[in-house]
Amino acid sequence: MDKKGILLVISGFSGAGKGTVVNRLREKYDEYALSISMTSRKPRPTDVEGETYFFVTREKFEKTIAENGLLEYAEYCGNYYGTPRAFVEEQLNAGKNVILEIEIQGATNIKKAFPESLLIFITPPSAAELEKRLKGRGTETDEVIAKRLKRAYEESDGMDTYDYIVVNDELEECVDEVHRIIDLARRQPLRMKSFIGEMKEQLKVYDK
Ligand code: 5GP
Repeated sequence: MDKKGILLVISGFSGAGKGTVVNRLREKYDEYALSISMTSRKPRPTDVEGETYFFVTREKFEKTIAENGLLEYAEYCGNYYGTPRAFVEEQLNAGKNVILEIEIQGATNIKKAFPESLLIFITPPSAAELEKRLKGRGTETDEVIAKRLKRAYEESDGMDTYDYIVVNDELEECVDEVHRIIDLARRQPLRMKSFIGEMKEQLKVYDK
């Protein structure tokens, strides 16, 4: 079996619980690594440098693009966001499945550059449930919630770009479903090249 890990893109509506799913996945299994993105947006009070993002100036971001230091990048709401290349390549080679928590434009670019990557979209079971979860957080104003729901409507257009849609109804079930999808993807013939070669070699003795 190819020991290289899977490049996994996880996207979802704001409020779908994708952050929780990713954290739980990493707690439960040790074969996942989370890529920390670089961004030119200003840190929020809840942000931690090097944990939520690497915060840089637009100039530094553009320099990193020019040096081919990013696997993909996108401009979103006036700010740059990108995936640092070195960490992802290192971790994949070490056999880890690397998770990119990025928006759809980045996801599409990753799929083009890495056809073997896996794109998963996490969604609540219904729009009403999404609204309920956003309101339940109690941290956002009605205006922000309305904006996120409108954005969810726009993003729903891109859902069919993904390889799998996973419904996050019950957290543990959702986490296990994502893990099963990854596990199966690792067994695709494309990734089993060395195993196929060995099997063929072993079967040769019967070719009489
Ligand atoms: P926020 O500013 O709320 O942290 O993130 C805004 C959006 O940017 C989210 O949809 C998030 O998934 C996306 N994002 C975060 N990092 C990256 C990245 O490295 N590349 C791309 N294309 N999108 C990203």
